[in-house]
Amino acid sequence: MTPFDQELSARLAAIRASGLHRELRCVDSAQSPRITVAGQTLLNFSSNDYLGLANEPALREAAIHAVERYGAGCGASRLVCGSLRPHHHLETTLADFKGAEAALSFSSGYTAALGTVAALLGKGDFIILDRLVHACIVDAARLCGAKLRVFVHNDLAGLESILRWIDTQTSPAGPGKTRPRTLIVTESVFSMDGGFAPLRELVELKDKYGAWLMVDEAHATGLFGPNRRGMAEALGVSDRIEVQMGTLGKALGAAGGYICGSRPLVEYLVNRARSFIFSTAPAPSVAAAAAAGIAFVRSPLGEERRLALMSRIAELPDHLTVATASPPSAIIPILIGNETKAMEVAARLRHQGVFIPAIRYPTVGRGKARLRLTITAVHTSEDLAQLAAALHQV
Ligand SMILES: *Cc1c(COP(=O)(O)O)cnc(C)c1O
Repeated sequence: MTPFDQELSARLAAIRASGLHRELRCVDSAQSPRITVAGQTLLNFSSNDYLGLANEPALREAAIHAVERYGAGCGASRLVCGSLRPHHHLETTLADFKGAEAALSFSSGYTAALGTVAALLGKGDFIILDRLVHACIVDAARLCGAKLRVFVHNDLAGLESILRWIDTQTSPAGPGKTRPRTLIVTESVFSMDGGFAPLRELVELKDKYGAWLMVDEAHATGLFGPNRRGMAEALGVSDRIEVQMGTLGKALGAAGGYICGSRPLVEYLVNRARSFIFSTAPAPSVAAAAAAGIAFVRSPLGEERRLALMSRIAELPDHLTVATASPPSAIIPILIGNETKAMEVAARLRHQGVFIPAIRYPTVGRGKARLRLTITAVHTSEDLAQLAAALHQV
């Protein structure tokens, strides 16, 4: 073994010893409530494909059509010659769906967060995060160079005391000097706990202190609000949030990330978001599938799927005693605590034919390992009964 590999092997041994080792599992089927892993068919309760769109004919056909017309790849970044019709169509569809002035798509939600936060803030600015935000936002906060402050999950008083402290740190803009900016970032539905952020109160607070607000709707887009735009719509605060972010890879069934907001925001990101500028444009098939996912969500069929999902979630207490968020979301954490124990429980569930991987540090805090159970619109009541029986067994 080379010294390089020796060092990495020692690091891997330490990861294993702490119960945090991860490995890939090869899935031999399309996303659905049942997936094939190593020849075994498993009832899948781990997908973010909340509406069952990842393998939906309308999305598949849109992708195939885009391949036939535009090919497999884009050849360059969006700003060079890779900005194809499907990207533009996706962005007008997105803006219209979200009721926003403009939208920009990225190759992932992760890169949308990195590029956007680092474009908006720099050294001398402030960024404030809810403790439970997704890793991409934490990484974005580190990358942008702004001073980082974190508040206890959903703790408005804690957030306000940070905002007050920042006020004491900053003097008003003088001639030729811009005032430091403060950006608050939270999720509308938290990815590992399934709970909601108090968006109305957050909007009031950021307005009171002249801060900006960015909301990650990764687990809400397509699921909440009269037009299924997300929680900002459900709570009537969409037009008071400076930056609305989300992914095209969860309920929308495709892949990619997006930012929605004002026209100046999107124009600015096209000029300044490095993860957008210095990266090959997403495949046209993926952009086309995402646009078809949005069209599906907005159609009566999309509403049917959403209602099916909500009724499956509502049935869950008939099968299991689990604490669900209120209002309920599709993410139900089953807290275990110890990392190794969580892995054992997940392995025993697999033995019972049920797939719910253990989520461990650093995705969640140390000692907060859990099974992250997700329900989709295409699960049946019988699937829930089988899940309950398997959980009961283990
Ligand atoms: C999945 C997720 C992302 C990242 O989106 P991708 O498109 O998968 O890169 C960002 N934020 C949250 C809260 C997520 O759950």
